[in-house]
Amino acid sequence: MNSGGDDRGSRATVMTSPIESASELDAKDPLAGFRRRFLIDDPELIYLDGNSLGRLPAATVELVESAVKEQWGKGLIRSWNDGWFEAPERIGDKIGRLIGARSGEVVVADSTTVNLFKLALTALKQRPGRSRILTDDLNFPSDLYSLTGVVEALGDRHSLEVVPSADGINGPVEEIRARLDERTALLTLSHVTFKSGYLYDMVALTRAAHEVGALVLWDLSHSAGAVPVDLEAARADLAVGCSYKYLNGGPGAPAFLYVRRDLQESLTNPLPGWMGQLNPFAFELSYQPVADVRRFLTGTPPILSLLMIEPGVDLLLEAGMRRVREKSIRQTGYLIELWRQLLAPLGFSLNSPENAPRRGSHVSLGHSEGLGIDLALIREMKVIPDFRQPDNIRLGIAPLYISFSDIQQAVWRLHEVVERGLHRRYLGNAPVVT
Ligand SMILES: *Cc1c(COP(=O)(O)O)cnc(C)c1O
Repeated sequence: MNSGGDDRGSRATVMTSPIESASELDAKDPLAGFRRRFLIDDPELIYLDGNSLGRLPAATVELVESAVKEQWGKGLIRSWNDGWFEAPERIGDKIGRLIGARSGEVVVADSTTVNLFKLALTALKQRPGRSRILTDDLNFPSDLYSLTGVVEALGDRHSLEVVPSADGINGPVEEIRARLDERTALLTLSHVTFKSGYLYDMVALTRAAHEVGALVLWDLSHSAGAVPVDLEAARADLAVGCSYKYLNGGPGAPAFLYVRRDLQESLTNPLPGWMGQLNPFAFELSYQPVADVRRFLTGTPPILSLLMIEPGVDLLLEAGMRRVREKSIRQTGYLIELWRQLLAPLGFSLNSPENAPRRGSHVSLGHSEGLGIDLALIREMKVIPDFRQPDNIRLGIAPLYISFSDIQQAVWRLHEVVERGLHRRYLGNAPVVT
């Protein structure tokens, strides 16, 4: 993007005095004030896992209190008529503003995996006579499992083609283009891939799929709240995504799904339920779906968890995705620059795209002793990244609460772990969740 001037400036200062340069960058950061809007109880802890579980917005703490005590405790069943019933659409519309959807195209429901199942299955039914689903091997495994279930549910008449990435970092764009043809029913990809953080060109690939008559389903789990998405401009058909990563919705918060308006009436929910019924409280014995995106709702939403998504989304709307992206590019660029100077000499490789327009908001660093380093960072150094097999230390940059000083400190601490060999005692010691 357009941060070339800044990058050059910081590169020069990093060489001589890194500490000064990080605080200078922080001093002119227009989003710096957003950090105070999150509950940060230990200022020394550097949290670089907002791409897995976002931090807790301060406003959410108050909302929990009122949702439990007032809405549930006092309002009881009446609260369904006081905002609960419409919450999946209302909060869906707000998420929609972050991803370039129009009002009435996004609802919050279920988990990303379940939503992917629902939308992929109905998409395949829309393309009878076509038997191929195209995806890549950078995709999130749960997405592939879900697609396997879709194929099985439709009687094993489709093939799932998983196009391999040549280097495990960059999306196999040319191979995907080459395989798109009149047999392709559906192209489905993670817009930003979970390991390397590769960012696909949504506009170009959606167009390519449409040219052969295929539908496209984007997984926005690592995009929503991290990179600007314009579903409308891309003419995207379908999308799903997570709310507990960069949206800061809280552990296990329900996911969202998007269906372009002109497709809504022709697509059906393969897991129909009363929340998608035209008039759920008529208790009709036969199912008649509502005409809009709500037909993709199934059962009763987890109201408390659903309501908690809103404060994090509001913060992102207030900050604006353009500014979030500008800061994210500066910060991941800064991190890569520090990697080059301080970590590459210690055996770390860059497992994310160097080219900013093709990079999401996390940076993966590879190291043959990566898991030990990850555990030493968490247990001894107050840095929380995460680890993805085989050797990726993932450093998630959530611009609303990460400072340049955090990034610089994290790199110093990484450097120290390896220089002092602190990671050695953790090798071969994996916890269940990494
Ligand atoms: C995190 C993530 C998911 C999570 O799916 P759940 O069903 O919500 O557990 C799915 N897809 C991608 C690409 C992800 O990054």
